[in-house]
Amino acid sequence: MPKYIFVTGGVVSSLGKGIASASIGRILEAKGLRVVLQKLDPYINVDPGTMNPFQHGEVYVTEDGAETDLDLGHYERFTSSPIGRLNNVTTGQIYHSVITKERRGDYLGATVQVVPHITDEIKERIRMVSKGKRVDVVITEVGGTVGDIESLPFLESVRQFMLEVGRDNAINIHLTLIPYIRGAGELKTKPTQHSVGRLREIGIQADILLCRTEKELSKGMKEKIALFCNVAPEAVIEARDVESIYEVPLCFREQELDKVICRLLRLDYKAGNLNDWKKNVVDVLKNPKRSVQIAVVGKYIELQDAYKSIYEALKHGGIANGVQVALKRIDAEKLEANPPEQLLKGCDGILVPGGFGSRGIEGKVKAIQYARTHKIPFFGICLGMQCAAIEFARNVLGFKGANSTEFDSGTAYPVISLLEEQQEVKSLGGTMRLGAYPCELRHGSQAMTAYQKETVWERHRHRYEFNNRYLEEYEKAGMKIAGVYPKGNLVEVIELDAHPWFIACQYHPEFKSKPDRAHPLFREFIRHAIKNNSKKSGVRNGKKEDLVSVREEE
Ligand code: GLN
Repeated sequence: MPKYIFVTGGVVSSLGKGIASASIGRILEAKGLRVVLQKLDPYINVDPGTMNPFQHGEVYVTEDGAETDLDLGHYERFTSSPIGRLNNVTTGQIYHSVITKERRGDYLGATVQVVPHITDEIKERIRMVSKGKRVDVVITEVGGTVGDIESLPFLESVRQFMLEVGRDNAINIHLTLIPYIRGAGELKTKPTQHSVGRLREIGIQADILLCRTEKELSKGMKEKIALFCNVAPEAVIEARDVESIYEVPLCFREQELDKVICRLLRLDYKAGNLNDWKKNVVDVLKNPKRSVQIAVVGKYIELQDAYKSIYEALKHGGIANGVQVALKRIDAEKLEANPPEQLLKGCDGILVPGGFGSRGIEGKVKAIQYARTHKIPFFGICLGMQCAAIEFARNVLGFKGANSTEFDSGTAYPVISLLEEQQEVKSLGGTMRLGAYPCELRHGSQAMTAYQKETVWERHRHRYEFNNRYLEEYEKAGMKIAGVYPKGNLVEVIELDAHPWFIACQYHPEFKSKPDRAHPLFREFIRHAIKNNSKKSGVRNGKKEDLVSVREEE
């Protein structure tokens, strides 16, 4: 039987429970333990696939085609935990399953209730995530904040689960906030005491506290928290704000969180360390040789989380090249009203990410035209690829009004149109072309140079596709089809012949990038952005003093 860690959050939301859980996974893996991470989400949607990014941030797509919470992206970036459909459980899924069983007659004779039917279903999902796998530790993150009405059934299930498996086999790690009150010049522990008390009322005693804080927690302060919250002093861990999320595992390990966990769960482990992670990820991030500026032209630019995996993958591309990636987030709609150079001048590379709906499309097309004609490295992803096809059709092939039928159903040139398998689809939840499919790359393409492979598996989330009717005209005019899904003959990658680096793909490579193993396309995109930057500033051999350093524009 695996051991279980339940991660809860208190006081306020947005403390970084996902990153904390992923980091716990990372430090345990460093000890040679096999981990699985799972998230329980209290909302009633079956999955976040139908939610607006303003509500939810990015939808993270797994290999098996589940649309999940973005925290699962952190899990995959930090650990090698297998991630799929079972790793994200929502209230919607739980009720859906219980009601289906009830209609089938599985509970015949019984009144179906939150306790025990809903809680049994939740516990079953906690067990299922590691079933048939060789796993030492299951780390389950409970979404929401302790005290919310919505997360109560999940916490009640955790209480029951911990009781059933015993205290040596399951622990609670509670992420909490120690606010600094500027006027008093003091850190305050009361909100933490209250939230630990709240957990206790539900029947869960916290075993370890991860204390988010702006300032250092003194030994005395840790002892006070330990005493009032009924945990061991070494189980009070400081989780101070750090420059990069990838430092968090180092921070936890320094305070020997791994040892505390192993002691509480009576786990045997190897010594292990995070030296490679420190050397190859954190140290490179902190000491970049130089900086490149990448414009991301999107619709949800003001949100931190809407393009989470893209921003992280760009960072990984930077790490692989030893440079800092300075992001310039550009609202596509702003480009519509202004000349493109006003916003894009000085950018070393331009990326257009995925999206839905017509808002901002014309701005994206304009950015792509600028990248194409000014020979700026360009990377288009999903909708970004579709916009690249539209731009090329309008401005090179002379197809006036060319568009995707998603935005203009009556266009004379439907260069992007609905996938055949989508023609009959009526419901919107979970019905896109989702998950991993193979893509065969063309020899001699830039994509193949990046991957160094003929066949790659990448994740998808779309309904529309490149319309093969126009394929020949594109190829003749210099837009190469560099990758296809062989079974359906779907265009997966396009690139331009007469351009230093212009690649657009129908799939989402950002979901498979890791800090210590950048996705090949992101690595190459940044490499070409550096080249472009050197050309502009006349720098040779990458000498740092000759470079203009750009800070991230938030
Ligand atoms: N809206 C487009 C489609 O459904 C692109 C989707 C995306 O970018 N994820 O095909």
